[in-house]
Amino acid sequence: MALERDFDVVIIGAGGAGMMCASTAANRGRKVILLDHSTKIGRKILISGGGRCNFTNIGANPESFVSQNPHFCKSALSRYRPDDFVSLVRKHKIRYHEKKLGQLFCDDSASQIVDMLVEECDDAGARFQMDCQIFSIKKTGDKFVISTSAGDFRSESLVVATGGLSIPQIGATGFGYDIARQFDLKIVETAPALDGFNFSKADAEHFKDLPGISLDTIVTCKKATFRENILFTHTGLSGPASLQASLYWHKGEALKFDLLPQFDAEKWLSRIKTSHNNKVELKNVLSEKLPKRFAEKFAQLMNMNRPINQLNERQISDLAQHLHGWTLHPSGTVGYRKAEVTRGGVDTKELSSQTMEAKKVPGLYFIGEVVDVTGQLGGYNFQWAWASGFAAGESC
Ligand SMILES: Cc1cc2nc3c(=O)[nH]c(=O)nc-3n(C[C@H](O)[C@H](O)[C@H](O)COP(=O)(O)OP(=O)(O)OC[C@H]3O[C@@H](n4cnc5c(N)ncnc54)[C@H](O)[C@@H]3O)c2cc1C
Repeated sequence: MALERDFDVVIIGAGGAGMMCASTAANRGRKVILLDHSTKIGRKILISGGGRCNFTNIGANPESFVSQNPHFCKSALSRYRPDDFVSLVRKHKIRYHEKKLGQLFCDDSASQIVDMLVEECDDAGARFQMDCQIFSIKKTGDKFVISTSAGDFRSESLVVATGGLSIPQIGATGFGYDIARQFDLKIVETAPALDGFNFSKADAEHFKDLPGISLDTIVTCKKATFRENILFTHTGLSGPASLQASLYWHKGEALKFDLLPQFDAEKWLSRIKTSHNNKVELKNVLSEKLPKRFAEKFAQLMNMNRPINQLNERQISDLAQHLHGWTLHPSGTVGYRKAEVTRGGVDTKELSSQTMEAKKVPGLYFIGEVVDVTGQLGGYNFQWAWASGFAAGESC
């Protein structure tokens, strides 16, 4: 059967945002096709949340997102809320649970979310063309012509839902940014995010024996603070607090860690100094509150590993300050091969916050991660994919 060529809406990218947009538009009676170069639908959803997909966060609000325009995401997020997605999940009888901090995960498998979205698209009449390489896009008159390995498609609306650059090994590309540039739309500089940090050369040497050690900390990067664990790796820091901080960090900036959150280190150390226990070496005192290997390293780096009664008041105060404000200057973040998201993207100044349509190119839409709206760890990025996909789907 010859492939139909004329559609109301062509969506490039069959990920979360693309499928949400497709089902929404098709339910309005629009003739919709999703084109994707992958052979598999929704690959990022499949690998998300450790295979269980953290599909939303019940506390999602605009403050959990980073963008050059922090107000841009408000309209879409308010019109498609976490509850709306939860209703869809319930309608499809997918069991889920809150893991922590409002993060909702499937009880069983992320593939249930992909199956649900595919079913929603199928029911609404949206079609999929997978394994489809896009060669070029042109706008002639009020129609887009998309030339692909499956032939040319024509449409009134073109929705770009190609995601970001993270995990190129499963097909992520910068194609969405290329399309934006082709139509003269600005891009906010992109960077890998939610990926954690690499140590500087000196710190890599200092901490080479600590992989696997995890600490409860408050990490601060500029004004953003997170209370969660950090995890030492062979090359740097991972763990939820480090991933969160990497969303806010730029090259050359410092990270601060409170290693004893909600605890007064100076009072504690002073008390030990004046107790009958005051001949205990610092590393052993610290290992009451911190993992032993880290405590040893910390005492050594502070050059204070001696019985605590040999430390004067100024040294105790200095030590306490370092415990509450341990500072690192990472050499960089880990990079796109591990990053959960791409920070930056299509400049929101170019788009309508109501519809995601490009202001100077009628009919051209950008949704999901390709846009300069990036969420914290914890289900926020999917909520943005659903909300921006819905906003465009109502309009395209
Ligand atoms: C390991 C990992 C775990 C994650 N876990 C979570 C989580 O639990 N919760 C959460 O909220 N977020 C999570 N994220 C982030 C989340 O997956 C993304 O933000 C979200 O998938 C973005 O949706 P999207 O539809 O914009 O893009 P994508 O899901 O990336 O979809 C883009 C689609 O476009 C296609 N495409 C790309 N280039 C081309 C091209 N040139 N031609 C044709 N098609 C193309 C791709 O094949 C893909 O199907 C995770 C990310 C990763 C990498």
